[in-house]
Amino acid sequence: MPASYTRALCKISGEALCSPHQQGYDQKSLAALTSALAAAKNSGKELGLVIGAGNLFRAKDAGLDYSRTTLDEVGMLATIMNGKLLSAALQKEGIKTALFNAFPCGGLADVFSEQQVEKAFEEGALVLFTGGTGHPFFTTDTAAALRALQIGADVLVKLTTVEGIYTNDPKQDPKATRKKTISYRKIIEDRLGVMDLEAVILCEKHRLPIIVTHFADQTHLTTALSSGEVGTLVTEE
Ligand code: UDP
Repeated sequence: MPASYTRALCKISGEALCSPHQQGYDQKSLAALTSALAAAKNSGKELGLVIGAGNLFRAKDAGLDYSRTTLDEVGMLATIMNGKLLSAALQKEGIKTALFNAFPCGGLADVFSEQQVEKAFEEGALVLFTGGTGHPFFTTDTAAALRALQIGADVLVKLTTVEGIYTNDPKQDPKATRKKTISYRKIIEDRLGVMDLEAVILCEKHRLPIIVTHFADQTHLTTALSSGEVGTLVTEE
């Protein structure tokens, strides 16, 4: 494990932008997320963010009888809405941001390009990535693993609704305990639902460490990036 990470790609579930078990947006949740991100950025880290859209639209949960491609396209478009709003919230905190989308969307965002992204990091921006992978049948977890590799991040942090990976589902089993470390293989073989398997496989292949932790805590991200003990660290073990 490195003493400290320098460039992190954070995957943020759309649920981080709304009240627990709600949909849409919530000012308090947005403010909490923004200040956690600002703290990590201001501690000297380079941050890239891939944002989901679970607060607005998820193809598999939409209950609509249209083609999967169409529904996934709607999901990808919803990530742009989240990216724009999160970018505005970060700017309000004095954080410089740059927004890159997976596909052209007019003046709303630039299209992802390795060179342009590198330039944005050099200029001190926190870089947001929207539009997922730009392809249906994927999720933003996989987009996060992909972008992490493309930008040369030294860690992928999945900010989610649980504190880490547990011995059992903590929402169902109150005795479940958090694992401090786990291997990619264990997640893949036991089909642990904490992250999409495609994403875990990609990280395993390229030996990219993953940290799973909660988005609501103000200090977890900063602590995790300084190799402090929060959440669960996923490596080869
Ligand atoms: N999506 C997609 N391709 C991608 C990323 C996302 O088609 O590369 C669509 C998919 O329909 C997904 C939705 O966008 O359900 C929102 O993403 P996700 O479910 O990953 O959001 P999260 O659960 O992280 O908030």
